[in-house]
Amino acid sequence: MTQIIVLGAGVVGLTTAIELKKWNPNLNITIVAQHFPGDFDNQFYTSPYAGANWQSFASNEDINLQNLDKPSYKKFIQLAKNDPERSGIWIKDNITYYTNYKISETKGNMSEFIPWYRNFVEDFKIIDEDKIKFKDIGFGTSFKGVVISVPIYLNYLIQQNKELGNKFKKAKIDNIDELKNFNGIKTDYVINSAGLQATKIKGITDKKLTFPVKGQTLLVKNNTKSVLAVEGFPGTSDEMLYIMPRKEGGSIIGGCFKPGDNSSKIDEELTSRLIRRAINYSPEIIDPKYKNNPSKIEIIKTNIGFRPFREDGVRIEKDPKYNWLIHNYGAGGGGYQGSFGFAQKVVDILKNELSKSKSKSKL
Ligand SMILES: Cc1cc2nc3c(=O)[nH]c(=O)nc-3n(C[C@H](O)[C@H](O)[C@H](O)COP(=O)(O)OP(=O)(O)OC[C@H]3O[C@@H](n4cnc5c(N)ncnc54)[C@H](O)[C@@H]3O)c2cc1C
Repeated sequence: MTQIIVLGAGVVGLTTAIELKKWNPNLNITIVAQHFPGDFDNQFYTSPYAGANWQSFASNEDINLQNLDKPSYKKFIQLAKNDPERSGIWIKDNITYYTNYKISETKGNMSEFIPWYRNFVEDFKIIDEDKIKFKDIGFGTSFKGVVISVPIYLNYLIQQNKELGNKFKKAKIDNIDELKNFNGIKTDYVINSAGLQATKIKGITDKKLTFPVKGQTLLVKNNTKSVLAVEGFPGTSDEMLYIMPRKEGGSIIGGCFKPGDNSSKIDEELTSRLIRRAINYSPEIIDPKYKNNPSKIEIIKTNIGFRPFREDGVRIEKDPKYNWLIHNYGAGGGGYQGSFGFAQKVVDILKNELSKSKSKSKL
């Protein structure tokens, strides 16, 4: 049996382990990680701190990222239809508004706001001007989106791994060589899905920099109707509003995008701005007539998380030095929406590797 270690139990490692085993049941897969779902002692373990939804950040030119993001949209819609309770995913309208300030920044060029996925996702629409009821909003789009309740979904990924027979081992790895022979077993391939720490492990080199981008979100008791994003608040260019109603009740309100800020301190002023903006653009959030909402925002928890960014984007390739190491990290702000595409790419690399070694052994 081919022995595989997937290093990392974030959304990227867990999804990759599932897809590898589904492709080839003869792989003996162990997920080795310092943190597993349920651990909240390290904000650099990003996956538990995400929103999360699918809204690809690929530009119209970035065909590579578009192709990586496509599979998860289909998969999440499928899960929302077929297994919503266990997966914690449901289908919700996804609305994005652009303020007049944002529009002036692009000199009125609305085509910049039309994403590559207009012809890919279900029900993509440009919202009619007369249906936009906010004076400061000049343009809006919508499509059939999804909201992923992250704690439920991560647990679902763990269960899927268990059902497939994949194993788990809690351990901190300091040197990647430790994994070549692990627990007395020789490993054939290691998949490095260690997120922000991926390049901090001895033996791993990368010409591109990996760096955290801070986010702050509020988990609130209040319910909302749709996934809503608003872009373009004057004077706060690293902030935006997003609201994601969760399937089990309550919503996530975000957020910000702060590279270079590694402090886990909560910004209370940002919290106030997020609340003000959420009430302005989703007034039902404090309307008791809507799903019995509290008449003010009730915060359950404020979360700080760090997106695992990498210059040049996600790295999915064989290591140039170690022929048993495949990288799979640097998901940035899109690890959920890219997870199935990343996993597929790892499967393709391993498929190729195994067929090479098979033909060598025949010589
Ligand atoms: C506020 C916020 C909102 C977000 N919203 C979205 C969204 O809506 N949609 C979306 O797609 N994405 C979103 N993201 C991004 C997404 O959360 C990340 O891209 C994703 O979680 C990265 O997953 P990962 O598996 O690569 O890394 P991680 O989740 O960080 O997992 C890394 C794993 O590696 C292990 N590890 C690391 N070093 C070692 C070591 N030395 N030894 C052993 N184990 C090790 C860790 O213990 C952990 O298990 C958001 C992020 C934030 C912060």
